[in-house]
Amino acid sequence: MFSQKALLLGASRRPELRRLVTGTPATRRVVDRFVAGETLDGALAVVRQLCGEGIAVTLDHLGEGVTDRAEAVRSRDAYLALLEGLAPLRLGRAAEVSVKLSAFGQALPGGGTDLALELVRPVAEAASAIGTTVTLDMEESATVDSTLAVLAELRRDHPGTGAVLQAALHRTEDDAAALAVPGSRVRLVKGAYDEPPSVAWQSRADVDAAYARCLGVLMRGPGHPMVGSHDPRLISLAQRLADHEGRTPDSWEVQMLYGIRATEQRRLAAEGVCVRAYVPYGADWYGYFMRRLAERPANLRFFLRSLVST
Ligand code: FAD
Repeated sequence: MFSQKALLLGASRRPELRRLVTGTPATRRVVDRFVAGETLDGALAVVRQLCGEGIAVTLDHLGEGVTDRAEAVRSRDAYLALLEGLAPLRLGRAAEVSVKLSAFGQALPGGGTDLALELVRPVAEAASAIGTTVTLDMEESATVDSTLAVLAELRRDHPGTGAVLQAALHRTEDDAAALAVPGSRVRLVKGAYDEPPSVAWQSRADVDAAYARCLGVLMRGPGHPMVGSHDPRLISLAQRLADHEGRTPDSWEVQMLYGIRATEQRRLAAEGVCVRAYVPYGADWYGYFMRRLAERPANLRFFLRSLVST
């Protein structure tokens, strides 16, 4: 018996369903809730608005799982254009970028990790040149070693390069301990992918407990923890741990996705917590959108209702 979540995550990798979903005009209205438009100009308008409200951003040019080198090069160029667009805004670290290495060719046979490193390096250089950083998103569990290897290479020249760790994976407590080093920036998330019991906790309670343990490791360490969650219990735990460790507000942050719990993002920012919104933009929104539907049954109901009410 497949869970609804597993079915939606499976559908996120099916090209024929991608055509069906993205070709339906009603989808657009629901997608707009989660995606800051298809163009760079649209994304920069959202950046100006959020930063004006005291919320930092990390921008994601949507795309993943490229199937040839030319597409991977286009991902690099899209990020270089994004950083060029951010330069005149002079936002420094208030506007970072997040990349998925699968958009940079990581999964291509015969040296995908090397290709991803070759193509993401100029993005890290362009980010450093305008006083900001890149965070490497984390994808399926099979990519963790490759992604952490690219991170280690990038951190030699760009020590502020960020990583993402998924609490759902059994290995993550060890990875968190290894990354709890000076200058390290780690976004801790629950994990958005469907992973088998051999590598990942399966129940919500186990994932939450693992998240709390990993958060403790990161908060006690000398790095900059980034709490990537909308879960109110985990965010208050993070606040308590930060207080307990005597952390200053600029030494850790809460990150949430664009369009999710936006009022809470503003409330936390007004309280003095550093809040960063993850802002995805671009035409290739299908995989990202399907993961958001998979996370919450109410999103799926809302989406289905919008289809029948057109
Ligand atoms: P949940 O228990 O799922 O949600 C808590 C509450 O948040 C819900 O009750 C609901 O009110 C709200 N909420 C959560 N999700 C949604 C939604 N989709 N729509 C509407 N409301 C919602 N995962 C990765 O695997 N790799 C990454 O690189 C990655 N980067 C991320 C970056 C950021 C900034 C964030 C916030 C998440 C990222 N994720 C990533 C996704 C993450 O793994 C979870 O799937 C997602 O955050 C949902 O878990 P939660 O911690 O918010 O808790």
